[in-house]
Amino acid sequence: MAYNVPRLKDFSPAALDKAAERLLAALKKESADIKAESDWKPFRDRWMARKNGLLTQINELWLKAAPKDAKRNVGQRVNVIKAAVTETVEKLRPNVSGTAIVTGVSAKAKVGEVRAHGQQAIDITLPGNRRPLGAEHPVIKTMNEIVSVFRNLGYSVEKGPIIETDYYNFEALNFPPNHPARDTQDTLFVANQESKPLRDRLLLRTHTSPVQIRTMEKIKPPLRIVIPGKVHRNDPPDASHSPMFHQIEGLAVDTNITLGDLKGTLDHAMKALFGSSVKTSFRPSFFPFTEPSAEMLISCFICGGSGRRRSEPCRSCKQTGWIEILGCGMVDPNVFEFVKNHGYDPRRVSGFAFGMGADRIAILKYGVDDIQLFFQGDVRVLGQFG
Ligand SMILES: [Zn+2]
Repeated sequence: MAYNVPRLKDFSPAALDKAAERLLAALKKESADIKAESDWKPFRDRWMARKNGLLTQINELWLKAAPKDAKRNVGQRVNVIKAAVTETVEKLRPNVSGTAIVTGVSAKAKVGEVRAHGQQAIDITLPGNRRPLGAEHPVIKTMNEIVSVFRNLGYSVEKGPIIETDYYNFEALNFPPNHPARDTQDTLFVANQESKPLRDRLLLRTHTSPVQIRTMEKIKPPLRIVIPGKVHRNDPPDASHSPMFHQIEGLAVDTNITLGDLKGTLDHAMKALFGSSVKTSFRPSFFPFTEPSAEMLISCFICGGSGRRRSEPCRSCKQTGWIEILGCGMVDPNVFEFVKNHGYDPRRVSGFAFGMGADRIAILKYGVDDIQLFFQGDVRVLGQFG
């Protein structure tokens, strides 16, 4: 007679033990009866099928039916039974272990070969253990897309240190000595640097621009580079701020580079990134290292520049139809003065520079409303961008 899961009337520990014993004895007996590979699947299904398998029946007839004060006792035994059933079924799974039924030419050949080494048989024709695939982080993905647009224009990629000196982060970029950016309110300084001269003091770079100076020191013009990287500011984290974020900046230096080159290059880049219908617009701005300086806006690629989306006000552009996307300008001749001895005579060369926040662009692109989601490492969030 095949075993049937009985309904329980008595939920006392002794009665539960007896019921569990009977069930485990049935498991043992039925597993011993498996002689051929074709016996295994019906065995597994009888015990483990989600619909009406014996484990499911135990859940229904024992655990769910148990009075409240017996649930704990029943649950403990059901867990032991589940583990025993799973283990038995897995142990008997064909072709997996040396004790299982081995069929098929390759498996047989393998058994002979492995036995010679006194080990368990391994069937190399079985699929391996599947591991979840990783996905590119949305910010890194965005940075790579931006970099590839400029690579196609002949730009090369440069990197530099994240811990910088005041000289590269501020002085050589034409920040005057008392510029507010040097304040600890804005910049994270390495502690105990006061005994050093200002220009040698260490800080976490506040922008990727120091790499412009470092690159000009080692490569003579003409120069076309993009600099993706991590930067830090003394900003408490909130939905749109993080003490760590990512920038991409670019620099082009040659003889006769004009504002027209700047506008043409960036207009092309934005169309390549956000679609050919995107319009660009410039408005005057100020940065210490460029003159003139501008902020570039693109027409909102979420609402198509109309300021409304599905008859709702567009949040991405705050209904203006335009999004501020980057800062740019012609390299200030004062910056070239710092690298004059490396071939950057401001009377001979000119150039333009631009910089944008990669996290902000990723936020716009993916419609994320909180920058912190990018850095909390929650796979439920990050897994959506694969
Ligand atoms: Zn919009």
